[in-house]
Amino acid sequence: MRAFFARLFHSFRFRLTLWFVAILALLVAGFSLFIYIRQTQVLRVEASTRLTAQAAQFGTFYRAFLRRPPEGEQTEGGTLGITEENFLYLDDNEVFALLGPDGRAIQTSEHFSSNALNTVYAAWAKNPNVPVEYALSEEEHAPRGYLFLVTPVELEHDFRAELVLGSPIDPTHQLPRLALTLGSIFALTILIAFGGGYWLADQAMHPVQTITRTARDLGEHDLNRRLNLTRPDELGELAATFDEMLARLQAAFERQRQFTADASHELRTPLTIIELETNRALERPRTQKEYQKTLTTIQAENEWMSRLVEELLTLARMDSGRAKLAPEPLDLSEVAVDVVERLTALAEKNQVALSTGALEESLVNADRAYLTQLLTNLIENGIKYANGPAARVVVETGAAPRADQPHAWVRVTDNGPGIPAEHLPHLFNRFYRIDEARTREEDDAEAPSGSGLGLAIVQSIAQAFGGTVEVQSAVGNGTVFTVWFPIT
Ligand code: ADP
Repeated sequence: MRAFFARLFHSFRFRLTLWFVAILALLVAGFSLFIYIRQTQVLRVEASTRLTAQAAQFGTFYRAFLRRPPEGEQTEGGTLGITEENFLYLDDNEVFALLGPDGRAIQTSEHFSSNALNTVYAAWAKNPNVPVEYALSEEEHAPRGYLFLVTPVELEHDFRAELVLGSPIDPTHQLPRLALTLGSIFALTILIAFGGGYWLADQAMHPVQTITRTARDLGEHDLNRRLNLTRPDELGELAATFDEMLARLQAAFERQRQFTADASHELRTPLTIIELETNRALERPRTQKEYQKTLTTIQAENEWMSRLVEELLTLARMDSGRAKLAPEPLDLSEVAVDVVERLTALAEKNQVALSTGALEESLVNADRAYLTQLLTNLIENGIKYANGPAARVVVETGAAPRADQPHAWVRVTDNGPGIPAEHLPHLFNRFYRIDEARTREEDDAEAPSGSGLGLAIVQSIAQAFGGTVEVQSAVGNGTVFTVWFPIT
């Protein structure tokens, strides 16, 4: 039960409803208060108008009845020739008092205690322009607010009496009824708002619950599930974003799975070759030459595997962001010259003319070892695929704006066979090879092996330093790889 309430109070729906209801309550309460106060003011103005009119009529009509009390005579009720029945203009619950010039009461109505009269008179004397508000006590009258007006009544020459007239502010008990009505409306509004608000919030939160449930149930094997919530609102947008994220995750998972499968497959081939070779050698005694051939094959396969594992490790490190990159300002042309010098021997062996073209100085922020590997991969590919007597590979560097930003570029051009257009979009995929038979040169252990990871590594390294790789190629016309780096 406690858990239920804890969940309820923490639920967004509930808090949303509470906020909504609180704001509405404040508004309705404010509005009710305004109406109540306004009504009180209206009643007071009405009472004041009533009193003024009554006082005027009182003065005119009863002047005739009143006369100065004979010298020494008690000024008690009735002695002025005026009885309560004469006060035609007064309602039952209204009170009055007539004060003589000496300030003493000539006559007072039944429920008007002298105490109340004194208080009212004193308050009026302090501020004669404003009607006095005073609550008569239970014994005096019903416990209600009264408004009093004090008006002079000219009776005879030099005999001025003062009439104190009191009328209830709310004679028909409007205010308590109004308060009850407003209170009921308030309670009903809040009740309906709470119910309706909670229902609305619940409806609005439905898609969120769907998303939560889907996310909770999602395992790595059903990444193909989608919410497909086609709503034109914010939640629809959220669901669409969630679906897009799922698609990306699925693609990443697929790539990873494919990568692992490919890597295992790549390693299985040399392992099978080694096993077959050793089994064949051990079948029966062999000549030394045969043993040598077997060991050479095993050595070549071993080298192939070492290189493959090395490449896989490089990619894994780049993927996980754990590659120890030490970016420093480097001159691309200087690194290019270094790599070209190192690979000259390999180029000569393959009868490929490796040279440098225009080498414009261009500073980039990159790690020397990784940049060297990037260029090595590109130049090795050029040497490997640009065969024939006139084969050549040219390396150039320079600087140029790209997308309005200053960039440095390095370009490796060969006059090899070129790459068919349909392969270009997949060239940088891991383990992507155009012609597997051509890249695996088993009889030449020294030749650069073709694992299909070389260009993937090139791209990974370029991206690690904010760069991009471009390829232009046409069958029979050679290939151009250009790597762009933002200039620091
Ligand atoms: P590999 O290690 O097999 O060379 P890469 O990722 O370096 O793998 O290259 C992928 C494929 O792209 C290669 O199989 C090859 O067919 C093609 N390729 C790469 N560079 C060149 C090039 N300079 N000329 C022609 N084809 C190339």
